[in-house]
Amino acid sequence: MADGDWDYIIVGAGTAGCVLANRLTADGRHRVLLLEAGGSDRHPYIWAPAGFLKTFRDPRFNWCFATEPGDGVDRRVIHFPRGKVLGGSSAINGHLYVRGQAADFDTWAQMGNRGWAYADVLPYFRRSEDRSTGADEFHGAGGPQHVSDIDERHPISEAFLDGASELGLSRNPDYNGRHQDGVAYYQRTIKGGRRVSAATSFLRPAMRRSNLRVVARALVTGLQMDGTKVTGLSYDYGGKAHSVSASRDIILAAGAIGSPHLLQISGIGPPELLRDIGVPVRHALPGVGDGLKDHYAARVVNTVSQPITLNERAHGLRLWWEIAKWIAAGRGLLAFSPAHVAGFVRSRPELDLPDLQLMFTPASYSTGVTGSLQRTPGMTAGFWQMRPESRGYVRARSPEPSEAPAIQPNYLTAEADRQVAIAGVRWCRSLLATQALAPYRAAEVLPGPDCQTDDQILTHIRQTGATVYHAIGTCRMGRDPLAVVDDRLRVHGVQGLRVIDASIMPTMPSANTNAATLMIAEKGSDLLLNGN
Ligand SMILES: Cc1cc2nc3c(=O)[nH]c(=O)nc-3n(C[C@H](O)[C@H](O)[C@H](O)COP(=O)(O)OP(=O)(O)OC[C@H]3O[C@@H](n4cnc5c(N)ncnc54)[C@H](O)[C@@H]3O)c2cc1C
Repeated sequence: MADGDWDYIIVGAGTAGCVLANRLTADGRHRVLLLEAGGSDRHPYIWAPAGFLKTFRDPRFNWCFATEPGDGVDRRVIHFPRGKVLGGSSAINGHLYVRGQAADFDTWAQMGNRGWAYADVLPYFRRSEDRSTGADEFHGAGGPQHVSDIDERHPISEAFLDGASELGLSRNPDYNGRHQDGVAYYQRTIKGGRRVSAATSFLRPAMRRSNLRVVARALVTGLQMDGTKVTGLSYDYGGKAHSVSASRDIILAAGAIGSPHLLQISGIGPPELLRDIGVPVRHALPGVGDGLKDHYAARVVNTVSQPITLNERAHGLRLWWEIAKWIAAGRGLLAFSPAHVAGFVRSRPELDLPDLQLMFTPASYSTGVTGSLQRTPGMTAGFWQMRPESRGYVRARSPEPSEAPAIQPNYLTAEADRQVAIAGVRWCRSLLATQALAPYRAAEVLPGPDCQTDDQILTHIRQTGATVYHAIGTCRMGRDPLAVVDDRLRVHGVQGLRVIDASIMPTMPSANTNAATLMIAEKGSDLLLNGN
């Protein structure tokens, strides 16, 4: 296929881009070009679930962005990873498969987005899925994305789950099913001890098709427009500039940072910002990059009285044994996701639905949940407010495509977020103080016994919290003046251009964001193929 001979061009081979590349090429009718700035995903740090801790700051696989200093977080600059590799963020994420609450998607529809209510999107969640326990009303089997349960139950995690029942939280056999409430082991995008990214599940099988071309290490640098129609794009590959055009659509799947950034440097965005950075305004769209939302997590750490946590398995000879076990059988420490147990609870009992997500792991880390594992036994309970009100932005700093944009999530700037976060620390403490955990519990080391008042707890949250990597909302779907795409994911006022990735989410789902992104791309591909 010659350059220019494309029906669709997809920018970004992340979660959404891989789904789109697969679905759009499946019936052989369309020629599709997929351009990805990052390189190959063939690396043990990506295959091994615990490699998450290694890719977290590795520029070979990660854009390694940083936030602007935030008023809500003591002016700290927070490391902000995003995948830059085939598979995108699904190749470096924490493997947790959480869809959210039915009400999240019903809210999208109530905002005027036709076809996005829970009943509309459930078939797309199911279609994408290969659930290890089989299909049912909520789950799919035989789809590309494998979703498994934990394969090694840990005695401390079991004690945590038993202890939760002392606080009235029951074990939920499927938090992605009828309701989310309660505690459970996380469902994970892992198969046979190996990560199943969107590249593994969706892209690789499609790469055999002659109507798909994938170009890695291709940085898309701008969109070409004829009036308000996008006709093509330019990209850098091997130090040379290339131009390509598409007869149907150009689809931005560059993620919640990449998609608004590319629109802005192409002249589609808030006119004031574009003028400030010296980009000619091609189409004024004030909401591009506005409304960034993210989950901000903090944690409580206890030391453990028995040497049975994951920490001790991560050092010296025992680590070599764990590596051997993973290579031979895909089991052990390297096959774990960073969080084992989930909790979905209410910050105030009168709430209709859970608003706090919890994670527990029988391990403790030098920083956040991503530093190296400590040498002495420890356990960690973390949390985040599921539907934060704080909102920020992504703004290009210059017309230069390779210059990272300013990323300001404005964590904890909304009072409601601060109150829910304080309740989150109190929940974690209660859950770590149960009778069931008494045989294991030693002392609280973070935030520590001196931290008791709301003010002290908030200081701890501000000073030690971090992103849990769920950026959304920067090319929001909707009908209001700040919306960027309509409910068919077409960019308002521009022809031939769609955005299909996490950036279009109009509100934050009560969940980690990979599952919803898979769903968005599944539905987006149907919109394209059905001529919508
Ligand atoms: C460290 C980390 C841990 C996470 N953990 C979880 C988890 O456990 N569970 C969960 O559900 N979610 C998790 N997430 C979030 C989830 O992975 C993302 O929401 C999801 O992958 C977003 O998909 P996307 O397609 O919107 O963007 P991405 O998957 O980020 O894909 C965007 C792609 O576009 C490429 N790109 C960007 N700009 C350009 C350009 N100009 N030219 C060419 N290519 C470009 C990027 O390199 C990237 O490959 C995590 C994310 C991270 C970063």
